[in-house]
Amino acid sequence: MNLFDLTGKVAVVTGGNGGIGLGMAEGIASCGANIVIVGRNADKATAALEILRALGVQAAFIAADVTQKAECVKLVAETVAKFGRLDILVNNAGTSIRKMPQDYTEEEWHYVLDTNLTSAFLCSQAAYPAMKQAGSGKMINIGSMMSLFGAPYAAPYASSKGGIVQMSRALATAWAKDNIQVNSVLPGWIDTDLTKRAREQVSELHASVEKRTPAGRWGVPHDMAGIAAFLASPASDFVTGAAIPVDGGFSITT
Ligand code: NDP
Repeated sequence: MNLFDLTGKVAVVTGGNGGIGLGMAEGIASCGANIVIVGRNADKATAALEILRALGVQAAFIAADVTQKAECVKLVAETVAKFGRLDILVNNAGTSIRKMPQDYTEEEWHYVLDTNLTSAFLCSQAAYPAMKQAGSGKMINIGSMMSLFGAPYAAPYASSKGGIVQMSRALATAWAKDNIQVNSVLPGWIDTDLTKRAREQVSELHASVEKRTPAGRWGVPHDMAGIAAFLASPASDFVTGAAIPVDGGFSITT
């Protein structure tokens, strides 16, 4: 038995049109699963689809705003209509607004919480019936080093990413009986559009991450491919409710 064989399986990756989401989609596609990437920016998706199809699988883009429950329900229905099933859900869509806590508006707080945490809950809820019917499923939720640590500029972001870990544990306990595993991945600092903005906004961030990370470098989206393949595949069938750092050792140093 090939522990990592995903032939015939179907994965939805939110925010899979770039950055970490695309890195994870590539990992899952390289094991043979067909991929649906979800996002708002169709231009970014065109390039991502080419990369995924070059791995020999079918890939499609669904435009959706995952903060909206109706759009989450619709994207799952469209996936099942097009590919016949849904086996793997990667809740990766995310955003950040960096400010001191006293400066956030209520709208900004809700925007970050809705994009990072509520979206993951809504997509998981929407995907559950299809996975239950299939008799198995894998949900992979993207946390952060801010699931573990705090930072002055990250009150809503850290709240959402701490919430991702606890939500994953709650869903894992609820849906284990349906053979659905729910885990979270905590990336270290990865070079993407999101962190390009962070490096512009937070002085010394680039050098301080490099200095603290035992691996001595920032991560790249491809560094997330292996953990996605593992958590999407039968290799992780007895792993659930875990929160796994993929960070070059950032979280184990002082
Ligand atoms: P990107 O900005 O490259 O990716 C974010 C993705 O989320 C985009 O593809 C975007 O697609 C999608 N997205 C955002 N809002 C919505 C929405 N409302 N509906 C649908 N899609 C949405 O950043 P990263 O790749 O860095 O981030 C991916 C995840 O990884 C996030 O959850 C982030 O918090 C997390 N993370 C990142 C780290 C890093 O160092 N980069 C470290 C730890 C965690 P579109 O623009 O098309 O809407």
